[in-house]
Amino acid sequence: MTDFTMTTDQDGVATIIWDVKSKSMNVMSTEAFTLLSDLVDTALADAGVKGIILTSGKKDFAGGMDLKVIAQMRACGAQAIFDSLMGIHKVMRKIERAGMDPKTQKGGKPIAAALPGTALGIGLELPLSCHRIFAADNPKAKIGLPEIMVGIFPGAGGTTRLSRKLGAMMAAPFLLEGKLVDPKSAKASGLIDEVVAPEDLMKRAKEWVLAAADADLVKPWDAKGYKMPGGAPYSAPGFPTFVGASAMVHGKTMGVYPAAQALLAAVYEGALVPFDTALKIEARHFTSVLMNPSSAAMIRSLFINKEALEKGANRPAAPDQSVKKLGVIGAGMMGAGIAYVSALAGIEVVLIDASQEAADRGKAHSEGILDKGMKRGTVTAEKKAEVLVRITATTDYAALKGADLIVEAVFEDPKVKAEVTAKVEAATGADCIYATNTSTLPISGLAGASTRPQQFIGIHFFSPVDKMNLVEIIRGEKTGDIAVAKALDFVRQIRKTPIVVNDARFFYANRCIIPYINEGIRMVAEGVEPALIENAAKLVGMPLGPLQLVDETSIDLGVKIAKATKAAMGADYPDEAVDKVLFWMADAGRMGRKSKSGFYAYDEKGDRLGLWDGLAAKYPRDKMQPSLADVQHRLLFAQVLEAVRALEDGVLTDIREGDVGAILGWGFAPWSGGPFSWLDIIGAARAVEICRGLTAQFGPRFHAPALLREMAEKGETFYTRFGGEKKAA
Ligand code: NAD
Repeated sequence: MTDFTMTTDQDGVATIIWDVKSKSMNVMSTEAFTLLSDLVDTALADAGVKGIILTSGKKDFAGGMDLKVIAQMRACGAQAIFDSLMGIHKVMRKIERAGMDPKTQKGGKPIAAALPGTALGIGLELPLSCHRIFAADNPKAKIGLPEIMVGIFPGAGGTTRLSRKLGAMMAAPFLLEGKLVDPKSAKASGLIDEVVAPEDLMKRAKEWVLAAADADLVKPWDAKGYKMPGGAPYSAPGFPTFVGASAMVHGKTMGVYPAAQALLAAVYEGALVPFDTALKIEARHFTSVLMNPSSAAMIRSLFINKEALEKGANRPAAPDQSVKKLGVIGAGMMGAGIAYVSALAGIEVVLIDASQEAADRGKAHSEGILDKGMKRGTVTAEKKAEVLVRITATTDYAALKGADLIVEAVFEDPKVKAEVTAKVEAATGADCIYATNTSTLPISGLAGASTRPQQFIGIHFFSPVDKMNLVEIIRGEKTGDIAVAKALDFVRQIRKTPIVVNDARFFYANRCIIPYINEGIRMVAEGVEPALIENAAKLVGMPLGPLQLVDETSIDLGVKIAKATKAAMGADYPDEAVDKVLFWMADAGRMGRKSKSGFYAYDEKGDRLGLWDGLAAKYPRDKMQPSLADVQHRLLFAQVLEAVRALEDGVLTDIREGDVGAILGWGFAPWSGGPFSWLDIIGAARAVEICRGLTAQFGPRFHAPALLREMAEKGETFYTRFGGEKKAA
């Protein structure tokens, strides 16, 4: 183990260098932490050492704790987790106290942290236990505590130290929102102490170490008369902060994310007691969060599996297929967005529409986004020019010469799409891969218009393209491996997350989201209070209730999809009850947000005012309303059963894609880790039991799929059966 090494110079300054040789970014492991502790012991015990600098051998300091380790900790049990956290606290406290006499607070050795670049998670918690933090002036560096983003919170003392260093109010954006900042902003907000020119980083840290006085080593919370900045929670100035933060946390998380609540409790309770007791409280809350299945599921989906998919977990073996020249046909909402993200990633783009005006409008979309970035100061004039020059807006298909990938985003009409396919194939080379961004039309059908069906594939973006990170890649019946590899390499270039699914009506994401919307509308028809439907969805962690969602995506799109589905399914079509409501809304011209009227009422600017009260006149509310849990079960099972069926049907071939795709594609309750993780949390047996109840009350759409019933009988989870995880003892 050589993650940390130490050298001492002739002036008696020991430098501990963090450099995990097997990784491009330092991450902390349990063994490495023990090694660090031993090196600190050695330096503190060595009379020849005057002080210590902790730094990194890489361009960045550290990315944080190895999340794979954290995800596995739950299996160790609560006591072992708590003990290991207390062990970490002990080491950090040793660094902080640095050998000083506990009574006189004298005789310690100064320890400085010198951060050359990014310092995240434990990569900041560790410096926070040092006596002074220096950071190189590196605008690309990110400093902060992003733990909350993956369902945990800073549990290596970061919560306690930062809230005491900055006060609860100032620490809140870093702790509760995982805000990351560059070194200058980190200094301005008090996260770190000094920003220095990169070449002076070690020199300046050494100067400080050699000059530090006893008083420089005593942390504010270890000094007599310490008061929390902004006031303690029980004080008049401090109290409103906690009331506000508590309301904010509940408003944002709806109580479904255990980490945010536990974090707030750790800060509040910790502020009432001495520092060492506060660390113990932090460890207790952190243990309870890790023991909650939600945190392990979130880490697994949002970090481990997402990263694996981005690195090409399901990429067929093929040489590099990076895109050099992209053709985008159709410069409407989607095409313009695809052109922007591609040009931003350095790809040359030809953006074609039927008229020059439409093509130019599509290019102007990129200009608009870049202008906004310039106003915010995140985009320079050079960057804007560099991106825009990569986009050629034209009507001329001849400009596609040399393109190696085409993404078609014209009207959702098979005839129009077929014409475009023929025109593109006439203008491009034999190797060019052709992708359609269709959201509803089966890929294998559209590929019928192609003379090269093995090069025909679906690349389905979500709207708005520049914000939505999921891209669904759809293999048609004849799609070849090179086309899949090309699509995956393209998605990697534009830094989005891919899932690869097989062709079927609505692919994966839309297949699951449509039943969610339909279940909400069906309940309206049954007389369920619309506010109950919407709030039930939000209280279970869905970002938008089903009625708000259909307003956002538009009622007329819903009508179009319903008609097409009915035409395809004939007598088996199950959603007549839904269509009655939907078609009535469309006939009344209530098309959703875009028409400023839908299930919600809107003001002139298009801001939502509340649920439309005209709904009650047509669909009177039942006196007896269902329970919150019943409504939630209907909304969740409508989605997750469809996900299971997609797996059974072979549309999904990897449950990791099912979970990651659900969270990134339509915001499926991220706290759960995705539909398969959620089913694993409640257990297949319980899921089947709930399905039985729902089927009896509401019909066969809730019938548990055979796969789920079999898993219930065998006591399996999705991740033990399909994800290679071991069965719990
Ligand atoms: P849009 O109506 O905004 O844009 C379509 C563009 O295609 C228009 O600019 C139109 O002028 C152009 N066009 C039409 N026929 C053409 C032709 N023959 N040659 C060149 N250009 C032509 O539509 P959109 O919302 O961008 O959707 C485009 C595609 O993306 C559709 O297949 C749609 O199903 C799919 N999609 C849409 C969304 C969404 O949320 N809107 C999401 C995912 C996928």
